[in-house]
Amino acid sequence: MSLDYGLLRTLHRMLRQLTDIGERMDKGPRKVRIVAANEANFSKALDEAKAALLEMRKASNAKQLQLGEREAKIEDMKTKLNVCDSNKEFQLLKDRIAADLQANSVLQDEILEQLEKLDVLTDGVDASKKNHEKSQAESKRVSDEVALDLKALVAEKERITGELAGKEKEIPSDLLIQYRRLVTGKGEDALGATNTETCGNCNQTLTPQTVNDLMMKQPVFCKGCGCWMYLPENHPSA
Ligand SMILES: [Zn+2]
Repeated sequence: MSLDYGLLRTLHRMLRQLTDIGERMDKGPRKVRIVAANEANFSKALDEAKAALLEMRKASNAKQLQLGEREAKIEDMKTKLNVCDSNKEFQLLKDRIAADLQANSVLQDEILEQLEKLDVLTDGVDASKKNHEKSQAESKRVSDEVALDLKALVAEKERITGELAGKEKEIPSDLLIQYRRLVTGKGEDALGATNTETCGNCNQTLTPQTVNDLMMKQPVFCKGCGCWMYLPENHPSA
């Protein structure tokens, strides 16, 4: 019985195609997870920027309220200056007004500083919004692309699986169980090309007997990795 190495080459090519499709199918969800994580990070950054802005706004409002109250108090003291009973009382009140005006000037500086910070934080929120929107669009684009790719890959996988099943019918029946066991255990490495010197899968050196069997187109299994070996198309003995 002599084997058709062309059949083994075709089977090996199909098994490799299926491995490749499987890998590409795994890559899609990984890509989606990466962009989704990116989007989540930008969403978190936006929330944080908004929270910081809100906090600064509250602090600024509180300080402005405080300034307003103090200014009202100073006005109140100023009216009281006219109704002082003694010079001492007048002087005390004047000193307090001067001290409060000084404190208010500090407060005004602080308010100005807060307003500048508010501007920076507002810009920060705008930038975060843009980043988040960009990441959302990217996330959608990648998800759509992966879904489309997956559809094509599923169809390709079905097609090759069908073709493989058809080709496997050509395997001699006494070798079919061994073939199935190899494919189940090793996937595409169930088969391996050889240049008649070493195994193409594991580099194990072939014995003269193995080379002889290959030339006679007998079923040959690698003594290293166990794969079913065949000669490549361009080999003179193939
Ligand atoms: Zn091997």
